[in-house]
Amino acid sequence: MADRNKVEQHMLAEAPKVDSAGMAAIGRRILQLLDQDGKAPDDRDLAEPRREFHFTSRTDGTFAFRGRIDAEAGATLAALISPLAKPTSANDERDIAQRQGDALVEVIELAAGNKKAPTEAGERPHVAVTVSLEVLKKQIGTAKLAANGYTDAASARRIACDCKVLPIVLGSKSDPLDFGRLTRTIPHRLRRALIHRDQGCAFPGCQRLPRQCHAHHIVHWADGGPTSLDNCVLLCGHHHRVIHHSRWNVVMVDKRPEFVPPHYLN
Ligand SMILES: [Zn+2]
Ligand SMILES: [Zn+2]
Repeated sequence: MADRNKVEQHMLAEAPKVDSAGMAAIGRRILQLLDQDGKAPDDRDLAEPRREFHFTSRTDGTFAFRGRIDAEAGATLAALISPLAKPTSANDERDIAQRQGDALVEVIELAAGNKKAPTEAGERPHVAVTVSLEVLKKQIGTAKLAANGYTDAASARRIACDCKVLPIVLGSKSDPLDFGRLTRTIPHRLRRALIHRDQGCAFPGCQRLPRQCHAHHIVHWADGGPTSLDNCVLLCGHHHRVIHHSRWNVVMVDKRPEFVPPHYLN
């Protein structure tokens, strides 16, 4: 009862200074202070917080999703996304939505690459890509992705480039080829040497850390490029796309990667 009088006096004193939202905030704060343990839990409170996630693949192979998660998980998500969604440099032309989209993909890739990632039929999550060697080499045609997606030849080359994803490469008779299985995986020693040389994404001005990077083959393994220090360079997911899907180029000069902008930037 003594509390009630004090609260009333305090709220009356504050009322002229704040608007209704401010008043509600003061009320919530007082309730928290008065009842710091919170109300006694009942069975309903012990139930899982309501979380929803819906995703569907669309006819063009892309995925759309919507949902909601509780405040605590949301804060964790925001803490994961926001550092990854920062512009990679002052020249980063992606808008915030694109950067957050790329960040979400990084989170998915990090989760899939984690040793504790859930397995299905003994396999870690991976994208099954089925592509013919001809499509990889000639860069025309399509590749089939798991689920029911298709992707273009340039994307298939990028996906297959890093070797984290082992594509099923088909020969001319559509028999799976064991082509380059040994050469296309990046051995730990090579990855360590790449990290030592590039220290993270090698693209000018990019600050991405080694664990956020793919190993890009300068001459694609499908074109006979070796998986060696002189033919590989660390690139973050975004710059890996830039190299595969724009006219930026990377060449090796004196055993160091050098980036050649598209001629219209010169
Ligand atoms: Zn690549
Ligand atoms: Zn980068």
